[in-house]
Amino acid sequence: MATMASTLSGRPPDVKEVHIVWITAGLGCDGDTISVTNAEQPSIEDVILGAIPGLPKVHLHNPVLAKEVGNEFMEYFYRAERGELDPFIFVVEGSIPNETIKREGYWAAQGTDPETGQPITTCEWIDRLAPKAWAVVAAGTCATYGGIHAMEGNPTGCMGLADYLGWDFRSVADIPIVNVPGCPVQPDNFMETALYLLYQAAGLSPMIPLDERLRPTWLFGKTVHEGCDRAGYYEQSDFAHEYGSPKCLVKIGCWGPVVNCNVTKRGWMRGVGGCPNVGGICIACTMPGFPDKFRRDVFGRRGRRLRRANPQAAQHHQQYRQQGTELAASGAASHHRLSATNVLVSTATATL
Ligand code: SF4
Ligand code: SF4
Ligand code: SF4
Repeated sequence: MATMASTLSGRPPDVKEVHIVWITAGLGCDGDTISVTNAEQPSIEDVILGAIPGLPKVHLHNPVLAKEVGNEFMEYFYRAERGELDPFIFVVEGSIPNETIKREGYWAAQGTDPETGQPITTCEWIDRLAPKAWAVVAAGTCATYGGIHAMEGNPTGCMGLADYLGWDFRSVADIPIVNVPGCPVQPDNFMETALYLLYQAAGLSPMIPLDERLRPTWLFGKTVHEGCDRAGYYEQSDFAHEYGSPKCLVKIGCWGPVVNCNVTKRGWMRGVGGCPNVGGICIACTMPGFPDKFRRDVFGRRGRRLRRANPQAAQHHQQYRQQGTELAASGAASHHRLSATNVLVSTATATL
């Protein structure tokens, strides 16, 4: 009898089983895992229960969602390290702390080393598992670019996964890190990316297309502005000056014109929501450099010029989110924030 997995292309997938080993022990709030439980295109349940044609059998190991606890759950991480879960997709959630800038203690960990009795740091897990993973995925803005936890002045020196592993990192399948930003990640954006990778593992799709910031191109190729329900008001220069107005929100702080995000098209759940569509300004939560680079006090000075800015200027990263044995001083961080702002302003000015 033909299995469900063989019905898409008439041949079985290249691999029968794929494990997803998901660590939420970065600096974060587990919000991306919670968000993904709302996915419907596809849902976690559909993927795990084999309801989608063409997929290998999928085993999910996520500490928030797993039925196993303690050592029983941790065993999957040890098995992945020993090469017994081959292939596996390694998902990282939360910002990556810099464990080399302090003299004692640790910033983040999962599990305890049975030999030393010491916590196994999140960085150690990344060092152990990323080189063995078939693909490595960063879920949410903390894991992709550092996010809220990497704000200027934080003591952990934390950073995004690509800052930690290197932007040129390649998995054993020669796949770059796959970044799916968002705070939290839009549920269907994550599950659609996971589905693509599972089809790729099955030999049923080509290399996942990523942009220069390692985001799936089909999800992050447009701006918030390009999909916004309020774009007609923008076109007519009809702007809101207070919350509660149905008009374009750019004059009260919307970053939509320079932000790559599809929620104005896709919504949050079942097509409903999408920040500016429902009255909230876009705060640029998907972007490299969020939140420092997009702070409101900086925005307020730009006014009309930002709306004509080159969106590429907003892609620049915060340089103080990086490896090293010293924590970047807040003065240096502030310098980078202001530099980033100058890039936006000067680019905007150049386009006037
Ligand atoms: Fe939480 Fe946002 Fe960080 Fe995800 S990106 S861990 S939702 S703070
Ligand atoms: Fe663009 Fe924001 Fe205005 Fe929508 S509300 S049209 S995203 S500037
Ligand atoms: Fe984040 Fe802006 Fe997208 Fe809302 S519209 S999810 S604030 S990037």
